[in-house]
Amino acid sequence: MKLPIAPDDKKHLCDHCVALCCRYFAFSIDKPKTQRDFEDLRWYMLHEDTILFVEDGQWYIQINRRCRELRPDNRCGIYEHRPAICRGYQAGGCDWHGDEYDYEHVFTEPGQIEGFAKQYLAEQRKRRAAGRRRANRKTTVKRRLRRSSARRLGVPLPLLKSA
Ligand code: SF4
Ligand code: SF4
Repeated sequence: MKLPIAPDDKKHLCDHCVALCCRYFAFSIDKPKTQRDFEDLRWYMLHEDTILFVEDGQWYIQINRRCRELRPDNRCGIYEHRPAICRGYQAGGCDWHGDEYDYEHVFTEPGQIEGFAKQYLAEQRKRRAAGRRRANRKTTVKRRLRRSSARRLGVPLPLLKSA
């Protein structure tokens, strides 16, 4: 956000920048879990200038379009009336002056999210299958234990009577 130049500071932080922070907007979205979720993300990405990224486990969508109020000299055209989110943005840790972003994933093409979905959903299926196998093993062990303790106690096992 273009900040006013202090009289004693002609080299304000924003003077060195081309207003990077006024050229996109991004917001958090739910983490995709199903094929349909990923299909929706692919649809977003089919639109120009849209990317997705994941930071600290949180998914975001970013639309790379400049603000209507950004002037050709890279200054804010409505500085006194700029939205609260622009007022709260600090130049110190901003897009220009801050550290590199540490994204876990960045998707800039629809094909990338498609590839990621394929891999992610296959892993989920494997995990669910392994969970089911573990649950089946536990049930079998419990049944065996019940049978062997019933035999020890001389309790007759329930048997189906033939007609
Ligand atoms: S990215 Fe930083 S330096 Fe550039 S205009 Fe925004 S706040 Fe100023
Ligand atoms: S309103 Fe001004 S400060 Fe906010 S994004 Fe637009 S140009 Fe930048």
